[in-house]
Amino acid sequence: MQSLVLTADGLQLADTPIPPLMPGDVRIEVRSVGICGTDISIWKGDYYADLPLVLGHEFAGVVHESSVPDIQPGTPVVTDIDITCGRCWYCRSGARHYCTEKETLGITRDGGLSEYVCVPAEIIHPLPDDVTTMEATFVEPLASAIKTLHQAPAADDEPVLILGSGKLALLLAQVYDANGAAVHIVGRNRWQLGLAKQLGFQNTYDTVQRDWKSAILKITHGIGPRIVIEATGNIDGVAMAFDVVRNGGIVGLKSMHGCQFPFNPTLIVNKELTIYGSSRGPYDEAIDMLAKGRIEVNRLISKEFTLEDGAKAFEFASQPTVTKVIINI
Ligand SMILES: [Zn+2]
Ligand SMILES: [Zn+2]
Repeated sequence: MQSLVLTADGLQLADTPIPPLMPGDVRIEVRSVGICGTDISIWKGDYYADLPLVLGHEFAGVVHESSVPDIQPGTPVVTDIDITCGRCWYCRSGARHYCTEKETLGITRDGGLSEYVCVPAEIIHPLPDDVTTMEATFVEPLASAIKTLHQAPAADDEPVLILGSGKLALLLAQVYDANGAAVHIVGRNRWQLGLAKQLGFQNTYDTVQRDWKSAILKITHGIGPRIVIEATGNIDGVAMAFDVVRNGGIVGLKSMHGCQFPFNPTLIVNKELTIYGSSRGPYDEAIDMLAKGRIEVNRLISKEFTLEDGAKAFEFASQPTVTKVIINI
């Protein structure tokens, strides 16, 4: 089978053996893979991973062969990205996503940029008819956005500030909006902010053109929003979040990709902030939101590529104006 393999020399299309079906496994014929900021960071060497590696943790496909009776070949599926041990303290306590021995598809073991991938049946989620495999590539980041909402729920019409305008920011904005919050988006990418407007978010602020902080303070009695979510992918966003959030507020950190941040913790102490990180979320809720049409994902796709053009897809995806790139297999 063909796989896009990352080596020290870059991304290369290679012939690799079809993974054998082990007991308890399902082999997925991969259809679509989303390129995520983490993939770009690994590709650029900013986020450490053992090479050679097949990247791709946001993928969906169709069951090719199954070793378990309740999952039939031909079923469209998306998969969790973590393969957990089932034995450690977290796994035994029902918090498998904190597993200390877990492997992560596309990060610590080969992921979805291949014709076939084998995964344990227990991490498979069948897709309903009204969610395409391309839409399902958004399930993993959407689930993590939903986790942020669970950690920091907003009241109806409460202003929530999202910093950033990329894929994750636009998913977070839609998740909060679908749950009744008044979403405000601050970014510095005009094209992405335009897309946010097309998605119905009128309260967008371009940091290049407008004094966004005054505008945000004006709508929050001069004290700043209670909930600020950082989804810019760079360290400036964290400083902005700590600065603008009100005393006693909540900062959600989403997209740091290995950034080292020399921050002053006094601000957290003095402002009595609550800080949440979130990386893994509820897949079933994400699939349900997509199936009910509560989240628009197709308009977030900037361009589609084939596996043969996978290296070009990574070049394209690393441009700042790009929201989401899909590789179809
Ligand atoms: Zn991702
Ligand atoms: Zn474990």
